[in-house]
Amino acid sequence: MRPPSILARRFVAGETADTAIAAGLELHARGINSTFDLLGEDVLDKGAAVRSATANKDLLRRIPKGVERNISIKLTTMGLDIAEGFCFELASGVLDTARQVGGFVRIDMEGSKHTQRTIDMFRQLRRSHENVGIVLQAYLHRTEQDVKEAIKRHDRVRICKGAYKEPPEMAFQDMDDIRASYRRCAELLLEKGNYPAIATHDESLVKHAIAYTRDKAIQPARFEFQMLYGLRPRRWDQLVAAGYNMRVYVPYGTHWFPYFYRRLRERKENISFVVRSLFGG
Ligand SMILES: Cc1cc2nc3c(=O)[nH]c(=O)nc-3n(C[C@H](O)[C@H](O)[C@H](O)COP(=O)(O)OP(=O)(O)OC[C@H]3O[C@@H](n4cnc5c(N)ncnc54)[C@H](O)[C@@H]3O)c2cc1C
Repeated sequence: MRPPSILARRFVAGETADTAIAAGLELHARGINSTFDLLGEDVLDKGAAVRSATANKDLLRRIPKGVERNISIKLTTMGLDIAEGFCFELASGVLDTARQVGGFVRIDMEGSKHTQRTIDMFRQLRRSHENVGIVLQAYLHRTEQDVKEAIKRHDRVRICKGAYKEPPEMAFQDMDDIRASYRRCAELLLEKGNYPAIATHDESLVKHAIAYTRDKAIQPARFEFQMLYGLRPRRWDQLVAAGYNMRVYVPYGTHWFPYFYRRLRERKENISFVVRSLFGG
């Protein structure tokens, strides 16, 4: 694949682990943590899945001391669609390496045909590993129930709206309904969850989490905000200055197109970012 174009560079740190680590070091100097994501999805070739697992292990070992060793992975890059046993072996290998270096692995959530299998694999991995968390998507009708179950199990959850196109029988379609579901899930997690991650750029939801935790005297140390590389960088600094934990998702690698396309599709603001960066506005 071609190197990230000027457009993709807004959202993707670069092609190599070195460029991602350099971005992570810059964030670290601003008091912001990172979760590094080697881009890729829907891998159907065993060799490619093994290479993805190996690259993630290398990255975990290379993140310099002092910077949190925190990565995000997609199970379809590690063979979820090839064979579950194979995927389990690869993902647990990555978790073992993360454990050796004091690191943490977040399992991203993909489209609804993978939701249950991703949760099942996460639970299987969670039996032998503490250093793993899951992502739940507020647009799915099932998610409030999944959040309650995750709380019972003391799982670490990142709550996001959800980035894939889903049918009405699976997911809320209207943004007000998605926001309402997000607020319900976030409240449950903030009150009873295990260090939840509030992942959104939506100011109404950021403000809601701040107001809710103030009202309930939930300390900022009990949760973190997460945003994507390239989106709302000034807001990251403001949240850090206000005493909140902030983590940025730092994607890198050559398979950047599907990720980049989702970012453009979801927000007209993101398209105007691209236009501004192209025309220097
Ligand atoms: C850290 C992180 C990890 C994620 N992981 C996953 C995952 O595993 N699986 C998955 O399906 N999805 C994931 N997502 C994507 C997520 O599901 C949403 O698709 C994405 O975050 C867009 O929704 P939003 O809530 O951020 O705001 P949007 O719905 O995009 O925007 C709502 C409002 O936010 C404000 N806003 C948005 N963008 C900007 C901007 N650039 N500048 C200024 N204001 C802005 C505007 O007021 C806008 O109207 C992740 C998101 C984050 C932040």
